[in-house]
Amino acid sequence: DEVFPAVAADAAERLAVHWRALAAAELPVVPSGPPGTTLKALPEEPPERGEDLAEILDDTWRTIVPQLVHWQHPGFLGWFPTSNSPASVLAELVTAGLGVQGMMWSSSPAATELEQRVCDWLARALALPQRFAHSCGQGGGVIQDSASSAVLVAVAAALHRASRGRWREHGTEGRHRVYCTGQTNSCVPKSVRIAGAGEAVRVPLLPGTHAMDPAALAARMDADRSAGRIPAAVVATVGTTATCAADPVPEIGTVCRERGVWLHVDAAYAGSAALCPEFREVNAGLEHADSYAVNAHKWMRTGTPCSVLWVADRTALTDAMGLTASYLDNPAGEPRTVVDFKDWQVPLGRPMRALKLWYVMRAHGLEGLRETIRHDVRLAALLAGLIEEEPGFEVVAHRLGLVVFRRDGDARTRELAERLTGDPGVLCTPATVDGRPVLRAALGSPYTDEAAVRRIWSTIRRTAAAQD
Ligand code: PLP
Repeated sequence: DEVFPAVAADAAERLAVHWRALAAAELPVVPSGPPGTTLKALPEEPPERGEDLAEILDDTWRTIVPQLVHWQHPGFLGWFPTSNSPASVLAELVTAGLGVQGMMWSSSPAATELEQRVCDWLARALALPQRFAHSCGQGGGVIQDSASSAVLVAVAAALHRASRGRWREHGTEGRHRVYCTGQTNSCVPKSVRIAGAGEAVRVPLLPGTHAMDPAALAARMDADRSAGRIPAAVVATVGTTATCAADPVPEIGTVCRERGVWLHVDAAYAGSAALCPEFREVNAGLEHADSYAVNAHKWMRTGTPCSVLWVADRTALTDAMGLTASYLDNPAGEPRTVVDFKDWQVPLGRPMRALKLWYVMRAHGLEGLRETIRHDVRLAALLAGLIEEEPGFEVVAHRLGLVVFRRDGDARTRELAERLTGDPGVLCTPATVDGRPVLRAALGSPYTDEAAVRRIWSTIRRTAAAQD
């Protein structure tokens, strides 16, 4: 314990140096070692005797850091970002140091109440419908580890509601259906499977778009109902992973409401944009949603994991997820005047994730967070413009901070993706859109600026030129 302050100060200093090196693009965005490099560097036997923390820290920089993909690198445009900040890192240190566990209000009262407050703060900051707020009675927000967990518990709540509680005892009895599209993130069908509802039904897309066709959804649900099945939930996406497309939530919401079907809206990436009034179209139709999830760990300068799920009526969720046991008797819990977040998630135990959201919101202020979003949207527009101007390149989709593009010819696009793999200055991830290969560039690293975008583009152009 005595060495902790000095080693922690050293770790903080190393991180500050690391961030400066990233900002200056002095480190490669991807490591160059082949598979097994890190395994080879690590001893097979665990240490019998305790080692020096300072030495372990040294080894981290010697062995681990060089073999990481640097998600905070200015050239990192892969998947969706997970943009971090010093406030978030500091909060994680403090959280770990406090070492509390907030499964129930009584197991750490301030952890629970802080989470209630920051979820309400964020709901307000995003201009979400009031009924998602703890302060409005029936609803409330909870921090999950991922959008995957958020959709899993939302689907569980939906199955519970659709089966009028039978689900807890009898499962879905093979009758319940959950609907999404072929553009929905892979975590959704996975969660539907885990919840016991089998394969999610893929609703056709509106022609010429990557968004769900609400009329096709209604027809599919009605056909299922006629066949004795029970439509339980629809998962709509605002900001799909491949192209940042948005399902038409207002129309889908009407279809769901008319049929009493749960609507979950997954806005893991794009939801953060609602911090800015000018991007609030991402909230369209949320007044119909039963649950809504945004990953603060994607585009809100908050380290992973931190996914916020809001529900309009917490009862279905806590009835579906709640379990009691004598060792969980909660002196404060009866009558239920407090929130026990163990009943809002899969695991029993839970770290105090709210602290990092609290630090981030306070340290940046909403203005600071809005500026982050605007900055990334501006950079994406810059990149999209550069691509558009280039003969032989095409922008396939461009929304918020995501630019999806390809070369003329699928073979060329595939080859460009391959040639860019391992480039020290840029990481774009490939995907398939409408059966054709594309490259995705998602802006969001805290160190990407205009100069970095121009550098990235000249690397892509140079690589493409070398192909021809
Ligand atoms: N939903 C969408 C639209 C996503 O883009 C992603 C990940 O990129 C997810 C869900 C899954 O998020 P998580 O990793 O938090 O489960």
